[in-house]
Amino acid sequence: MMSTIPFDDDHPHEECGVYGIFGHNDAAAHTALGLHALQHRGQEAAGIVSCDGDHFHNHRGLGHVADNFGSETVIRELTGHMAVGHVRYSTAGGTVLRNVQPLFADFEFGGLAIAHNGNLTNAVTLRRQLVRRGCLFQSTSDTEVIIHLIAISLYSTVEDRVIDALRQVEGAYSLVALTKDSVIGVRDSMGIRPLVIGRLDNAHILTSETCALDIIGAEFVRDVEPGEIVVLDAQGLRSIKPFAKAPRRFCIFEYIYFARPDSLMEGISVYDVRKRIGAELARESAVDADVVIPVPDSGVPAALGYAAEAGIPFELGIIRNHYVGRTFIEPSDHIRHLGVKLKHNANTAQIAGRRVILVDDSIVRGTTSTKIVEMVRQAGAREVHMRISSPPTTHSCFYGIDTPEREKLLAARYDVQGMADLIGVDSLAFISIDGLYRAVGEERRDARRPQFCDACFTGDYPIPLTDHNDGQAKRELSVLTEGK
Ligand code: AMP
Repeated sequence: MMSTIPFDDDHPHEECGVYGIFGHNDAAAHTALGLHALQHRGQEAAGIVSCDGDHFHNHRGLGHVADNFGSETVIRELTGHMAVGHVRYSTAGGTVLRNVQPLFADFEFGGLAIAHNGNLTNAVTLRRQLVRRGCLFQSTSDTEVIIHLIAISLYSTVEDRVIDALRQVEGAYSLVALTKDSVIGVRDSMGIRPLVIGRLDNAHILTSETCALDIIGAEFVRDVEPGEIVVLDAQGLRSIKPFAKAPRRFCIFEYIYFARPDSLMEGISVYDVRKRIGAELARESAVDADVVIPVPDSGVPAALGYAAEAGIPFELGIIRNHYVGRTFIEPSDHIRHLGVKLKHNANTAQIAGRRVILVDDSIVRGTTSTKIVEMVRQAGAREVHMRISSPPTTHSCFYGIDTPEREKLLAARYDVQGMADLIGVDSLAFISIDGLYRAVGEERRDARRPQFCDACFTGDYPIPLTDHNDGQAKRELSVLTEGK
């Protein structure tokens, strides 16, 4: 889910995690635990809507899952045997309670709550049409567009209305929705964002990552297929495939950075992929050095893979303070600098006098790397070589991963040598796109039919960027933004 103001990059985009469960008396408590396991996907706000077959109950709030759902009283009020939940990752001041999910509305057929991970690329265009038809929007969230499309659909069943609505939207989405007698999960037809099915006794679960199944001891059943709708109700689990088949394009950045390393994505261990990227990197861009040091935590698995392949000792030469949020969530460049200092400290004894290979997952603006390199040099490193476990991030993501606008991406402005000079390293190398594809089990990237969405590295956007390419939509966005 993200705001319909994606081009105002003082209000950066959002990433999210979703969870839905049907058939368990402790539905809300399980949802809270699942959301806690998905906390890395969204730290700004959390919400749960439950239903007992008649009544819906909801609780939504800014902050972490534990801040909002840590108390038994809150959970006790979320009664019912089904629930859906959401964690939201956003950054700036644009976050207001009315944008916090799951969104809920009363329809002709009853109540419906929706939680969304992803981003719609024609939300502003659709919103404009809906407003002209008299729809009154309560939020600036693209997810609300789906709500209105469901409301005005001429079909009678909820499922048909959802299908009708989704036929009109473009973009990436994994959704979970709650009606008074079902939980519905949907994945867009390219399967860009993840969604998995789990089982706990007689209950079924739909969630973004398998780590949210592990936390409650649920069994992983399978991934929801691209374009599949899964309905969980009193009859069990039903699958519908109403959308035209499209080539699968799962987001490769989930493997590199976004997902938790203990999750399986499309049946592949995220941790294993990260280690294999490290090994590929060691083969592709070897350098003589004394120690391999990860930028924690995101660089750790790739650094382990690099060190093992290169036969160079791995050390924790940088220690992370876990009690600050991700640097990325700081709104301004000024604060962002401070964030790096708050978050990382050099473990000098592991660095002084050594030739260091630093491993991190990505360079976005370059702020983190610049600060880390400066810190490692101050700790007495003789040489600093940086290895990055993704290709250069040259393009913004419009499908639900938070990236700044293109002009702010370091790799869109400089070549590798230019970036190395700016960051202040003796050498800099990124994994090649084919090396990355090998790490996820492909022989190479098939340029005619890429197996993943890798638009942030290639500019090959599999879904049209309708709003982005439409001047009027952009102008409407800025008006929306002024109102914030
Ligand atoms: P930067 O300082 O802007 O170059 O950011 C790079 C750091 O941000 C990397 O070390 C990543 O671990 C982290 N990062 C990369 N992409 C994202 C993202 N989409 N959301 C949050 N953090 C990210």
